[in-house]
Amino acid sequence: MTHRCHAHGCLRDVPPRFLFCAPHWHATRKTLQNAIWNEYRAGQEDRKDPTSRYLAIQRLCVSELAHRPPGSLAVATEYAEQAEAFRKRAMEEGAGDPFEQLDRRKRKNEGQLELGLFVGGKRG
Ligand SMILES: [Zn+2]
Repeated sequence: MTHRCHAHGCLRDVPPRFLFCAPHWHATRKTLQNAIWNEYRAGQEDRKDPTSRYLAIQRLCVSELAHRPPGSLAVATEYAEQAEAFRKRAMEEGAGDPFEQLDRRKRKNEGQLELGLFVGGKRG
């Protein structure tokens, strides 16, 4: 049985425990790669029982890749909506917000922005 890369439109075969082929995996940003491994449970590809948290992150990865040329905004949006649906399901299941782990860098950048505004404000 073949198992294809989950990137939209990609036809490359990959081992079932891998989400993407090597080029698509390397095109995925590090924060999302880490999140995938955080949510991955050994053997889920055999049991066919990935968690809602995993699926939320997985759809988010596919959505981000679909945004890139020659991607399609419609396709990216569709996956983003699926990601949001799985995220909601995970929270309803009491598994917490799977996207929370993605926020660390954003918060850090927001902190830097605030600092920049503060410094700018002092100057003016
Ligand atoms: Zn691929």
